[in-house]
Amino acid sequence: MAEALRQGLVVASHGRHCVVETQDGERRICHPRGKRSQSVVGDRVAWLPAAAGQGNEGTIEKVEERRNLFYRQDEIRTKSFAANLDQILILLAAEPVFSEMQLARALIAAQAAGIAPLIALNKSDLPEPFERAWQRLQPYRDIGEGRHYPVLPLSLAQAPEDARSALIPLLAGKTTLVLGPSGVGKSTLVNLLVPGAAVLTAEISQALNSGRHTTTSTALYWLDGQRDTAVIDSPGFQEFGLHHITPMDLARCMPDIAAHASHCKFYNCTHLHEPGCGVISALKMGPSADGISAIRYSIYSDLFKKLGQTRY
Ligand code: GDP
Ligand code: ZN
Repeated sequence: MAEALRQGLVVASHGRHCVVETQDGERRICHPRGKRSQSVVGDRVAWLPAAAGQGNEGTIEKVEERRNLFYRQDEIRTKSFAANLDQILILLAAEPVFSEMQLARALIAAQAAGIAPLIALNKSDLPEPFERAWQRLQPYRDIGEGRHYPVLPLSLAQAPEDARSALIPLLAGKTTLVLGPSGVGKSTLVNLLVPGAAVLTAEISQALNSGRHTTTSTALYWLDGQRDTAVIDSPGFQEFGLHHITPMDLARCMPDIAAHASHCKFYNCTHLHEPGCGVISALKMGPSADGISAIRYSIYSDLFKKLGQTRY
């Protein structure tokens, strides 16, 4: 008798292969059937177990409609890597010094996908670099009265229990994608939230990549037995694929720019040179007078030009 389609959740992926979790919590390696069943972590899928005697793996037959989809880009191309997210947690640290452009791109990608971002700044036990990083985040903490980005100070190494109690209420009941450049403490964070995550990751990598060491898989971990709260760990802090954002959409995805764009004289103002531009006058006022910071404006104008050229 032919096997019936089953429902599942993609909890890890590496290239075209993935691990699907069944409704009763069992995990199976699955392969896509054709291009239309390419899935990413967080996808709900319909899958078919292999026929009796054909091993324990399965085939993904269909990817259910997604609430949202996140992209990233390497030197070669843009790829999707996570779906159906409620939130992204961007982990930064006092050290190493973070790139403001990378942070801005991650926030723009989140805004474009309609996903709420949360920023955490780790290594608060290093007072001087922490203070400098905290100051650099000031424009983000101040953005658009009431719609500002929350920034949570943490010391994962020195005060792990405090970090955990601060984070758990913000994560509860949600699926959160954790992102951060290397060295900020992302592995420390994931292991604090999910004891044993490192072992699980090694097992998954081995199963999906036939034993070769890999750093490119993305994995979802449950924080609770009811499977209500999850974090998705994805390596690196690659450039975000912004190819789906047009230059004219960019201002909408940057709340501090958007707040002043409604005052522009022309409805199709690019905020680069037009007379009567609300964004340019807000830039002249500066952040201390509720205007726009020079760094945020230069990020906007750089990205506007790049998006116009290459659409990436
Ligand atoms: P990842 O590359 O983001 O996964 O970072 P790791 O979790 O491997 O941590 C990178 C380094 O930062 C390690 O040497 C950690 O011990 C250190 N580290 C992590 N959290 C803290 C912290 O709160 N304070 C300090 N001073 N060091 C930390
Ligand atoms: Zn304008």
